[in-house]
Formats: sequence, structure tokens, C-alpha cells
Amino acid sequence: MSRAVLKAALAAAAIGLAVIVPLPGATAAGAADLATSVRAAMLAQHGPATLSTPVREPLVEPTRTAGSWVFGSTTIPLWATDEHQAPTMALFLAHRSRDGWRVELDSTPGFTALAAKAPAAVLSEGEKRTFASHQAGAAGVSALADTGLGLPWAQGVSWWMGGGPHGNSGSSRPFNSIDFNGGNGQVLSAGPGRVYKSCIRGRSALVKVVHDNGYSTTYYHMLNLTTLADGSRVSTGTYLGTIGNELPCGGSSSGAHVHFSLLRGNTEQSVQGMKFGGWTFYEGGSAYQGYAERNGTRVYPGNGRITNYGPGSTPPSEYPTGTVDAGSNTSVNLRSGPGLNYGVVGTAADGATISIVCTARGGTVQGNWGATDLWNKLTTNNWISDGFVDTGSNEPVAPAC
Ligand SMILES: [Zn+2]
Repeated sequence: MSRAVLKAALAAAAIGLAVIVPLPGATAAGAADLATSVRAAMLAQHGPATLSTPVREPLVEPTRTAGSWVFGSTTIPLWATDEHQAPTMALFLAHRSRDGWRVELDSTPGFTALAAKAPAAVLSEGEKRTFASHQAGAAGVSALADTGLGLPWAQGVSWWMGGGPHGNSGSSRPFNSIDFNGGNGQVLSAGPGRVYKSCIRGRSALVKVVHDNGYSTTYYHMLNLTTLADGSRVSTGTYLGTIGNELPCGGSSSGAHVHFSLLRGNTEQSVQGMKFGGWTFYEGGSAYQGYAERNGTRVYPGNGRITNYGPGSTPPSEYPTGTVDAGSNTSVNLRSGPGLNYGVVGTAADGATISIVCTARGGTVQGNWGATDLWNKLTTNNWISDGFVDTGSNEPVAPAC
């Protein structure tokens, strides 16, 4: 298929037609099979109840193809009568073999396994690493209350919480979303990761950032969106869009705001007791109520403003710990950065207990439990490979640095 065909297909999709991009040599039936397979994967993960009533079928939007591979997004649109919601979306990777389509949704073990075989043209090496680290959520590792994320606007600036914790479908569980507005209206990434858009309609879309530490965040109702290409790296504070009342994939909005949602892996994560930007958020008696708390100060929806203190830090007494396991050696080298190419700045004795401030992916090391690219940053600002630390998990135990 040529680039022009893909463009035409995407343009057709952009006006709401259910269009599947045929692969080179694929039959129409094969393309239909892809849509069917993606739909089945989405419903298997989220359940048929995710579909709006009456049913609106998931959009299937391929963005990259290479040979028998397709990468794209799938989004379940909402009806206009659906209150203050955001659509549910997932990124998908699909591969066609003689047996038919294999479809995997992002942040699942199946996605990681399939991604390992995918050509770079459909999924870059960097994206593969991000999604592999992101699998933590799907692997059942408990979520850290400190998300390691800021709030979705400029650090040091105060915004209103227009709506406290609520569900993607208003009162539906979990309450994984909060509505914010204020300041100059510029919505910024809550943390480092990779940005993706789905359901691009006119000047809006549903924007998702897949963070490096196992969380994802989504941003809805925005206009003047970032022009960064899908899969681009973003940092804490990278511009994503401006608050608005846009409804690219349905729902409703009364007053410009951003509907900010938290996911762990690709699963909606309740914000109850979770910390962003130095504030811990709590549910109220019903959707849109609740409050944010910091050092004994509570801010309620529409009453007082919330200052974004940035990704913040965990109090030292709450740092996750690990035990140094030097194998047959007596100590492990500490480095000035997350890789063997960084200088040795000290050692940690075998059996020592270390406190982990935050984590990062870096140089791959052959450790006690096989190869790992996970590095732990210590309270001394030195780094140690996770391959020589027993934390009880192969996944990060502290927020992303
Ligand atoms: Zn909302």
C-alpha cells in the first residue's frame, strides 16, 4: 500500500467511517478480520459494558503498517448524552499470519512479546522499551501511591479542580479522572513518556502519554494540540494542548477544562489516595466531589486552587528498599548515572540495605536474574543496576526519576 492510500484511509476514518487499511495483498475480508480482532481484544480487556448504550462500535485507526504488521489505536466513542466522560482507548499491535490476525493491546505481556518481533518501521526500539517497562501494571505489581507525576499544567502555578475524582463514564468505577482548568489554559505532560493521539477529529483528539514508570495519563477536551508525531518522547511539562470543550469522540463538556485520567498499564486506575504534583486526591460521597490534600490543607472542587508542586518526591522514610546481592563478589559498583558507561563513584556491600529514590531505564546489565536495563537511584544520588538488588520484583519499585 502506498502512503497516499494510507492517507486516504485515515482521512476517511477521520470523518467517522469505519475504515480499515488493507495490507498489501490483503483481501477485504482480511481487513475486516483486523477490525473484528481489535474489537474482540478491546472487549476482552474492558468488557462489553464499556460500549455506550446504544452501542457505538470501537474505532480502529491504523497509523503505521509494515508488511504484515499494523500499529494503531482503538477508541470506544461516547454519545453526546454521556456526561463529562472521556472515551476509552488502547494502542494496538497486530500481526497477520496464515492463521489470521494476532492483536495485542499496549502494556500487556502479549504486546511485549509481539513487539519484540515487530519491525522498527511499525514500532521503534525506543517505543518497545517504553512499552516493555510499562507492562508492570499488567503484571499485577501494586501501584505506588506516589505516581511520580506532576499535575498537567506549569509547575508553581495554581489551577481550579472543577470536578473531583470521577469515572471515565461519570459515576462509573474506578474514579480515575479529575477535571482541571485555570491559568493560561496550557495543558502540559504530567511526566516523561511517549505521546499518542487517537480519535483525531478536526482540531482535537484524545491524547495519551505512556509514562516510563508504568502509569499512563490521558487528556480530553483539548484544542490546539501538540504537533509531535505519535510515539515522540515528551518530558514533564511538554505542551500537549489547551483546555477546551472539544468532543472529538463524544461525551459532553460545560466550560473549558481538561479531563485528566490515570491508568496503570492499560487499566484505569483509581486516583483515591494517589499523589500528583505534591497533592493526594480523595474521593467524595459521589462522583465529582472529594478533595485534594497537602500538609493538612484540603481543597475542594470549585473552592480554592491547587498549586502544582511538580513530580515531587517521596518522604525519605517511605522510600522502597532493596538488598544488595553481589553474587560471588563482596560489593557492587555504584555509578554516576544509569549505565556502565557512567563512572564508578563508590560501592555497595553485599547484603547492604539501600533506599531507592526513583528508577530509570538505562544500560543493559547481566545481573543475578538475567539481563536488565533497570537502574535504581539511591539517596546518595548514585545509581545501582537492579540486576544486583533484591527488591522482590523485576519491575521498578519506585517512581520514575
Ligand atoms: Zn471529567
